[in-house]
Amino acid sequence: MDRRRFLKVTGCSAAVFALAGCNELLTKSSAKRPNILFIMSDDHASHAMSCYGSKINETPNLDRIAKGGMRFNNCFCTNSICAPSRAVILTGKYSHINGLVDNKVAFDGSQQTFPKLLQKNGYQTAMIGKWHLKSDPTGFDYWSILPGQGRYYDPEFIEMGEKKAFKGYVTDIIADKSIDWLENRVDKNKPFCLVSQHKAPHSNWQPGSDHKDMYKDIEIPEPETFNDDYKTRSAAASDNEMTIEHHLDLQYHGKDKRMTPPKDLEGKQIKKWKYQQYIKDYLRCVASVDDNVGRLLDYLDANGLSENTVIIYTSDQGFYLGDHGWYDKRFMYEESLRMPLLVKYPGEIKPGTVNDDIVLNLDFAQTALDYAGVRQPDDMQGASIRPLLKGKTPCNWRKSMYYHYYEYPGWHMVKRHYGIRTARYKLIHFYYDIDAWELYDLQKDPNELNNVYDAPAFADIRKELTKQLDELRKQYGDSDQLTQSFLEKYPEGDVRR
Ligand code: CA
Repeated sequence: MDRRRFLKVTGCSAAVFALAGCNELLTKSSAKRPNILFIMSDDHASHAMSCYGSKINETPNLDRIAKGGMRFNNCFCTNSICAPSRAVILTGKYSHINGLVDNKVAFDGSQQTFPKLLQKNGYQTAMIGKWHLKSDPTGFDYWSILPGQGRYYDPEFIEMGEKKAFKGYVTDIIADKSIDWLENRVDKNKPFCLVSQHKAPHSNWQPGSDHKDMYKDIEIPEPETFNDDYKTRSAAASDNEMTIEHHLDLQYHGKDKRMTPPKDLEGKQIKKWKYQQYIKDYLRCVASVDDNVGRLLDYLDANGLSENTVIIYTSDQGFYLGDHGWYDKRFMYEESLRMPLLVKYPGEIKPGTVNDDIVLNLDFAQTALDYAGVRQPDDMQGASIRPLLKGKTPCNWRKSMYYHYYEYPGWHMVKRHYGIRTARYKLIHFYYDIDAWELYDLQKDPNELNNVYDAPAFADIRKELTKQLDELRKQYGDSDQLTQSFLEKYPEGDVRR
């Protein structure tokens, strides 16, 4: 919902006053506008971060951001797949509005984005690392991006349109480039917005040389739902290609010896072995992200920039770390729906705080604009989370979120679906070549193993959620007709990642 409408709907005048007031104040005192450092990794699930209670790894540097600021427990992605989430973050608009519904489509860089608005309003802007939107970045004074997915070792970058080769490990290089830009930026009197985006820990999970032996003699515990039988859930049980057991080596690792099990293993032993290979390499990639975030934080500390910089850490979506027997993302179930979100800004955000409100990738653009004192355009559909960061959630803050995933048929073969999540419940509708509804009581069934859509005890809740879902679709301008138009505009076909 755009901010104006968001506030108008409920008539929460105190919040209107507070939000309008802080914007005005910031605009007037532009000299004090904070820098913005937006760090995003790719496919980093929050359950692989120690500040989120990970049972399988430690992330001491990411935890520094959480300890110094606020951790969001319920930050969700509106379309859990790489490029679409990035487009939502840049525009503050749902996929069906910004046009980037799946990974096949190129981003229309001529449209309004938050970096463009910051740039227009006196910020120095830079984009370094993984971009993944097919078109060239716009709204940045400087950009240096990986072509497509990019490589882990000795990657090429496209720097302001020119291809350049680099030696080394991609996560280290992205941090080096980010620090170089901070060090050498043209006008140090201007505030900056640095968007620093890692490729890691995206497949095919190649660790850096400094982490390759990490977890060598350790067995990583399997998640609770590792051996899910998908009972009561037809889309999860369908012919998707998400399983560690049957798809991991075939999809990304056909020629990769790391994923070719020893010949003496059989049946479930193979699944267990593959999980260990996968999760250890994934966590090794995370370890390098953590180290390099630490280097950036150290740079800010050493250069007196920590006090006046809003530091944001997130990932473009969550990921299945063996949960439900899967890897990858896409499904609206918790592990891929949830994004990590940590924000630190000393002086305004109380250190070590935790927020449970529903926030979205849709909110990031308006949040950045709010901190920069730039007017939030009416056509953006999220809301600034700055009041939440100050510890004062407006009384009219959203109580539910809307999700829509489109990429089917395609890579991993997860059926198209949309749905609603509230604090307690989730309703999902899978469509296209299936017509299946799912309902979960997240309080009683946090692992989403028991679809109660047809249970008589949930009839009233089902009715109420169906109504709320319809309302959300109307509010955000989504509809079956619009979905059909995307099907016609972008004909079906296999999509590679
Ligand atoms: Ca991703």
